[in-house]
Amino acid sequence: EEGDGDPRLAAAVRAVADALIADEARLTDLDQKVGDGDLGLNLARGAEAILREVDTYQGKSAASVMKALSASLRKTVGGTSGALYAAGLLRAASELEGKQTPGFADWAKALAAGSAAIAQLGDAKIGDRTMLDALLPAADMLSAAANDAATGRAFGDAIEAARQGAAATAAIASRRGRSSYLGERAVGVPDPGAEAVVVWLLAIRRSLDT
Ligand code: ADP
Ligand code: MG
Ligand code: MG
Repeated sequence: EEGDGDPRLAAAVRAVADALIADEARLTDLDQKVGDGDLGLNLARGAEAILREVDTYQGKSAASVMKALSASLRKTVGGTSGALYAAGLLRAASELEGKQTPGFADWAKALAAGSAAIAQLGDAKIGDRTMLDALLPAADMLSAAANDAATGRAFGDAIEAARQGAAATAAIASRRGRSSYLGERAVGVPDPGAEAVVVWLLAIRRSLDT
């Protein structure tokens, strides 16, 4: 399980956790409007748990880091997001298994596989007003650009796709998750889970840029 370990991975994980904690109030506010108001708290609780163990990720393989993230989010996040992220991260881990130093294309595959696992477990697809509206376009964009040498640009394009997907959720009534009970009343407010995806993608990019 031990690999050379890419120090950028632990740094990115820390950046994601910090960003989710920083945006707790905004995500909670969104989920108060269209759900049960716990998304910000759920994700911040998971982020705190990750910050407590991120030092132990140093030197670990990408697959074992993804597995560790899956396990702690499953235990701490709870709710729909917790189960879905845990499943997605576990699937990403199996995609990364055996890859000592995953490159851009490997991470693109891992994101695509993880997103597909979330879609499968949640029985949801694009347009259902969920996190998948941000996640799937971003994963597609990364996969399409996986052979692109200008990877910084590719990640920017993926984030833009996620942003557009998340913004577009404000125009759709939900068929999945708690906001489905609100139906048309959720229209005008973007899906909180999709917004959260944009938050952590931006955090990863900022961390890779520095
Ligand atoms: P809960 O509704 O259990 O309180 P959270 O607040 O943790 O769940 O997460 C809500 C988010 O989870 C939603 O904004 C949406 O993005 C995502 N979600 C809900 N149901 C599904 C589903 N079936 N498939 C994919 N994502 C979903
Ligand atoms: Mg909720
Ligand atoms: Mg809840």
